[in-house]
Amino acid sequence: MAINLVHRRPLLLFVLFLLVGICCQVESKYVAYNTTQRIVPDKLNVHLVAHSHDDVGWLKTVDQYYVGSNNSIQGACVQNVLDSMVTALLADKNRRFIYAEMAFFQRWWRQQSDAIKKMVKELVSSGQLEFINGGMCMHDEAAVHYIDMIDQTTLGHRFIKQEFGQTPRIGWQIDPFGHSAVNAYLLSAEVGFDALYFARIDYQDREKRKDLKSLEVVWQGSKTLGSSADIFTGIFPKNYEPPPGDFYFEVNDVSPVIQDDVLLFDYNVEERVNDFVAAAIAQANVTRTNHIMFTMGTDFKYQYATSWFRQLDKFIHYVNKDGRVNALYSTPSIYTDAKYAANESWPLKTDDFFPYADNPNAYWTGYFTSRPALKGYVRTMSAYYLAARQLEFLKGRDSSGPTTDSLADALALVQHHDAVTGTEKQHVANDYAKRLSIGYAEAEKLVESSLACLTSSDSKSGSCNPKTEFEQCPLLNISYCPPSELDLSTGKSLVVLVYNSLGWKREDVIRIPVVSESVVVHDSEGRETESQLLPLANTSVNIRNQYVKAYLGISPRVTPKFWLAFPVSVPPLGFNTYFVSNAKQTVAAMSSLYSSQGSKNSSVEVGQGHLKLLYNLDEGRLSHYFNSRNLVKANIEQSYSFYAGYDKIVSDLPASGAYIFRPNGSFPLKPEGQVPLTILQGPILDEVHQRINPWIYQVTRVYKGKEHTEVEFTVGPIPVNDGMGKEVTTQITTTMMTNKTFLTDSNGRDFIKRIRDYRSDWELQVNQPVAGNYYPINLGIYMEDNSMELSVLVDRSVGGSSILDGQIELMLHRRLIHDDGRGVDEALNETVCVNDKCEGLTVQGKFYLRVDPLGQGAKWRRSFGQEIYSPLLLAFSEQDGGNWTSSHVPKFSALDSSYSLPDNVALITLQALEDGSVLLRLAHLYEVGEDKDLSTMAYVELKKMFPDKKVSKITEMNLSANQERAIMEKKRLKWKAEGSIGSGTMVRGSPVDPSKLVVELGPMEIRTFLINFDDTFVPKMV
Ligand SMILES: [Zn+2]
Repeated sequence: MAINLVHRRPLLLFVLFLLVGICCQVESKYVAYNTTQRIVPDKLNVHLVAHSHDDVGWLKTVDQYYVGSNNSIQGACVQNVLDSMVTALLADKNRRFIYAEMAFFQRWWRQQSDAIKKMVKELVSSGQLEFINGGMCMHDEAAVHYIDMIDQTTLGHRFIKQEFGQTPRIGWQIDPFGHSAVNAYLLSAEVGFDALYFARIDYQDREKRKDLKSLEVVWQGSKTLGSSADIFTGIFPKNYEPPPGDFYFEVNDVSPVIQDDVLLFDYNVEERVNDFVAAAIAQANVTRTNHIMFTMGTDFKYQYATSWFRQLDKFIHYVNKDGRVNALYSTPSIYTDAKYAANESWPLKTDDFFPYADNPNAYWTGYFTSRPALKGYVRTMSAYYLAARQLEFLKGRDSSGPTTDSLADALALVQHHDAVTGTEKQHVANDYAKRLSIGYAEAEKLVESSLACLTSSDSKSGSCNPKTEFEQCPLLNISYCPPSELDLSTGKSLVVLVYNSLGWKREDVIRIPVVSESVVVHDSEGRETESQLLPLANTSVNIRNQYVKAYLGISPRVTPKFWLAFPVSVPPLGFNTYFVSNAKQTVAAMSSLYSSQGSKNSSVEVGQGHLKLLYNLDEGRLSHYFNSRNLVKANIEQSYSFYAGYDKIVSDLPASGAYIFRPNGSFPLKPEGQVPLTILQGPILDEVHQRINPWIYQVTRVYKGKEHTEVEFTVGPIPVNDGMGKEVTTQITTTMMTNKTFLTDSNGRDFIKRIRDYRSDWELQVNQPVAGNYYPINLGIYMEDNSMELSVLVDRSVGGSSILDGQIELMLHRRLIHDDGRGVDEALNETVCVNDKCEGLTVQGKFYLRVDPLGQGAKWRRSFGQEIYSPLLLAFSEQDGGNWTSSHVPKFSALDSSYSLPDNVALITLQALEDGSVLLRLAHLYEVGEDKDLSTMAYVELKKMFPDKKVSKITEMNLSANQERAIMEKKRLKWKAEGSIGSGTMVRGSPVDPSKLVVELGPMEIRTFLINFDDTFVPKMV
């Protein structure tokens, strides 16, 4: 029977085909799909946007993704995407594709032939291929600093401008895990984008917005710039993938393709058209106007682009034949123009979209802190890049020598939303760090040669051939600095050059490790400088030895005995030089040592200046803070605790992991019994050393000349052998009545008010009372009561909150043993290995605390915030005898000797570009109403900023410097918001008069200029 059946079937089919042929006259032939469709005004328009979301590193490194190696981890090859996209676009001129990540595109572009380049340029100019977002990466929005966001966007935008003459119009932040106000108003509106699109917002917010059709809004991200920096913002109804209903068409995807050949089985045109129309109507039901967007693609798709475009061609053809809705090839630009043409008023959105949760127990607030060492490294490198570019400019850019370009590329890459976020696999995190380190090494050479030129007294710019050698100490944070560990008894002395990249004169205290106690410090005028020796703690020595071995593969030759601390005074955008030499007897003051162990006193006071800290010796902890200048007094305690990371993934209940913070109980790290305090006191600073537990060490510093306290924490290795992942926090606890309210910064710029268990956009259902109240912190967090404000500033991005009134909490480090099920598929368990022996990573960092009378804290947060962002850059040399100052320039400022930038303005970019022009960015640091004196118009005199140069041309640019500001302003779409807040108080500086060269900056304004200098100009010698 079986055999008979098999034989009978072909005959049956033959008969069927014959019947079909006779009754319907259907024959299969070439179908010319009509893909020409454009917008139809009275229909529902479905904009099909073909895209591939290409992470510049996540499960694989950026290069592995590009070439398509390491495919056992993830089958992804961006080269295939770009190659095949070009072929597919050339095959039909109606097809369109958008591309976002310039780090990938640049890799591909430089490998193309002139013939391909010519074709691609045509695809770009015809609009078939559109660059969107256009930075080097799709930067994260929580753990990134605005200066880094600007730099990485500028790098990509200038590449696009240079190669294609295009300026991207649309922000496309489809994947980052929450969205910042600064990205909306600064990195979108001020860049000149007409709209911003993304997918990830809180699931509760999304549901409400779908109900109210308020997924598309006008976002007013800046209180200060008001409606002038509004941007149309589209939130996708679900994610950045095709709509629900099986529309994925990569070669190995399982969605049904349109089968429209009647001679083949499974003909399904009507079915698929119905699916499409149903998906369109569902989306139209949550969207205003008759335009909706289908994001046709997702991560690393279009590796064989024709596979997608073939289906999109068919959908457009058959859906339009069907006629219920209108489907077209589109881009977010076309979609945006259609929305604009509808002339609607859109709901107004203020503040930001943090934190992000994708289900009731999955708050993506862990990544605010994940990989704190990488986050710290990024911030350090970012500051170094800012300073190195200044020095590159001051020396004169020379493309034959070392440049800052490689560091720029590495820094741009690491702003990606799976890089600085800490949500990549370990080998990818290592790759980012390696790139930073390579970029640093080149920039370090540039900095050294530039300093050698600037200190050389016989140098003329452009013809500098200096003999002086400088060295730097990138591992100074772990007290490793070979040049400063010089044996001075031979008669040599150490030259310490201190460079200040801020536009203000700076008074600070620096510290370097030294081997001898017989040292004396002189300034550049030969005067003896007060100095202080602080014995190196055992903890520091151990970390130094272990991490030098781990990073450099060597064991340090000598062990320094002391930190030598001394005050320095450095002119704006310039340097000063100090000399450390052998003294016959100890001249630097040895710190006096006080141990609370065995002490009869119940308390001890620390601090030589206005600020005093009182420690309770019975409990071994801080109890009071007092400033004798402004009489601010506060009860303050500080403690450590950890959250146990939730350890099981049960259905949609995730573990705590790289992305997600899901605590399972909080455990105070209450030291058993009394914590002995070791106090070092001296003329410059006091230090309080506390071993909190075997894996947390803390040093609190109070400087005589400063009114804040600096806390240096050393956390790790966090033990997890009890089977429990731990997320380590510190709490600063006061008696302030803060009424659930605190403020955190947005990307180091604006401060946003946060209220515990509350969202301004919807009625929050609280499921995670801790994780759901965490916010990203890049600059600081503060809280107020009716008499004072307490601010905490940070040295890298961290997560933080105020879980109890009067308390601020920072998460400092995380070590976890489970994956959180969001794709990275690795536990966040960082280790460091020496000789194959591995242990949990130790993290050292700082935070800074100050209490001010109510309304007076902004000045410190802003000015000192800049000092944290841009620490003094130290370079070391040595000399025999004391002739340095006779053969070198010991003190220098690039500015006019009587000039410094106003207190409310920071120089955030000074960079010599390849074409000989100079990129200058000035940023006003204050919001409207933030400070009574400083939230005002500021004036910068460029003639005094560049006293030795003559400006021949100055052009004001948009933020990413790819178009003139005036042209951008004219082009940019102005949107209408429902119930918009008026912009009456908004102040911006007026255009720069080229004869006066004074730049005005209104509160929070950032102004970007391209400047050309007259090369023939010879400055007047005074
Ligand atoms: Zn992504």
